[in-house]
Amino acid sequence: MAEPSPSVPRSSVPAAAASPTAAGTTVWTIQALLNWTSDYLARKGIESPRTEAQLLLAHVLGCKRVDLLVRYDEVPDESQRSRYRELIQRRVAGWPTAYLIGSRDFYLLTFEVNPAVLIPRPDTETLVLEALNWLKPMTNPRIWDVGTGSGCIAISIAHQKKDAQVTASDISPDALAVAQRNAQRHGVAPRMRFLCGDLTQPLPAGETFDLIVSNPPYVAEAEFAQLAPEVRDHEPRIALDGGPDGLLFYRRLAQEVTPFLRPGGRLLLEIGAGQEQAVRRIFSDHPDWQLGPTFKDMAGRPRVVTVLRQGPANGSPASC
Ligand code: GLN
Repeated sequence: MAEPSPSVPRSSVPAAAASPTAAGTTVWTIQALLNWTSDYLARKGIESPRTEAQLLLAHVLGCKRVDLLVRYDEVPDESQRSRYRELIQRRVAGWPTAYLIGSRDFYLLTFEVNPAVLIPRPDTETLVLEALNWLKPMTNPRIWDVGTGSGCIAISIAHQKKDAQVTASDISPDALAVAQRNAQRHGVAPRMRFLCGDLTQPLPAGETFDLIVSNPPYVAEAEFAQLAPEVRDHEPRIALDGGPDGLLFYRRLAQEVTPFLRPGGRLLLEIGAGQEQAVRRIFSDHPDWQLGPTFKDMAGRPRVVTVLRQGPANGSPASC
């Protein structure tokens, strides 16, 4: 019986990993494969090794991760085990699991991902939650997601706020294609529009939104060296690179998006660690904007900055 990773000597397979048969050979049940693999991934320094072992095996078997639990005693066939081995090797070589299996769960939905798009992070769910809170009392709100990537923010909002009209733009046509497929998959495409171009460039003049959201690239040049290799070497640089100090896109958004936001409308921005004060300063230096609250992510870090477009008459927001 083959073991999951041929590069690892058989003697390193933990004794508890597989059930020995009467003849002394190993039976690679789902449970045995998962035990072996999570131990192996842990030894290779991978975070959440059990979850990743399950995600990869569920992908190979074409089932949900939870379904593995009731199939513990099944024995995958040799071709399945060999595909699993291959994925484990690519994972250990640094490929993110989300790209290997082609999907990632975010907020309430599963999104297709590939290396053209940033892998959705739980931190970004804060942005979705706060956007939905603000939109709750509104009817037919118009929303624009700038730099949509996989579409996870725009599509989650459209999915939860059933009367929202959502525009999603991105400079990358490959990213936009992924976002469009995700919108189809989740049944929100008829209320969405996809535009390809740099920030405001693809938007028709005169168009205004109630809410603009963005998770722009915000990694500073000097921080690239410290990024986890699986992020730095596999995720799209164009979705991460925020210029020399990481703040380039906040400056551009502060300058460029006001004509597209109605007075009193909001701009919700994801920010990176340590960027809150700098981002707030960029907007407070600008006469069109008024600062709103900063929201924290689940780890308690400032994660979403809110700014409001000043009203033209008295300078106060129409609603917030
Ligand atoms: N949160 C991502 C990371 O640091 C960065 C995302 C972004 O630049 N918008 O891995």
